[in-house]
Amino acid sequence: MKNLDSLKKELINIGKRMYDRGYVASNDGNISVRIDKNSVLITPSGVSKGFMQAQDLIILDMNGNLLEGKKKPSSESNMHIQIYKARPDVNSICHAHPPYATAFAVAGIPLDKMVLPEAVIVLGAIPVVEYGTPSTKELYRSISKYILDYDAFLLANHGALTVGDSLLNAYHKMETLEHTAQIQFIARQLGNVGELNKKQVSQLLSLREKLGIRKNIGLKPIKQKSKK
Ligand SMILES: [Zn+2]
Repeated sequence: MKNLDSLKKELINIGKRMYDRGYVASNDGNISVRIDKNSVLITPSGVSKGFMQAQDLIILDMNGNLLEGKKKPSSESNMHIQIYKARPDVNSICHAHPPYATAFAVAGIPLDKMVLPEAVIVLGAIPVVEYGTPSTKELYRSISKYILDYDAFLLANHGALTVGDSLLNAYHKMETLEHTAQIQFIARQLGNVGELNKKQVSQLLSLREKLGIRKNIGLKPIKQKSKK
């Protein structure tokens, strides 16, 4: 486990990358990482994720109690903690509003077509999670239906969420999600989203073990209509 100072530095750096790429506006978004079994480091609310300082960051216990920090914890703290409880393999969570992924979330279109090798290997299919009011328990209630089967989620009329085994891993999944959403959006404008065939997909999935990616992630069929 990394020490707390280096986790703080890494979290600040990921926040900056997220902001610089336009994945969040204003003070939106939140990021967290497990420190150990009993505590998580999480971003504050009301601070731009591109301009955070070490003293802005918050430490919470697994019941959401404040252990360290002067600012208010992220309004989505409960969602983060519930995800950690449900997924012991998850060590970090990224939530942002990247425009292309969020547009698919607003349109109610899951990214369930197997189109790009990198996205197939790392994410598999990406469901649209039913809308839940931000900062309420409603949001996690919607996510809970999908959390065991996927690592990336489109949050209807809201944004995107990714989980991973480290800060960088969760953030990279956000980049992969937004990249595939952008490419699929453009391919739709061109009039054709070419899909990989079953054999090609299974060849890609067989690479997962070598790369240490959970075997069944993103493979549960999504029962949402994917509008053409
Ligand atoms: Zn949000």
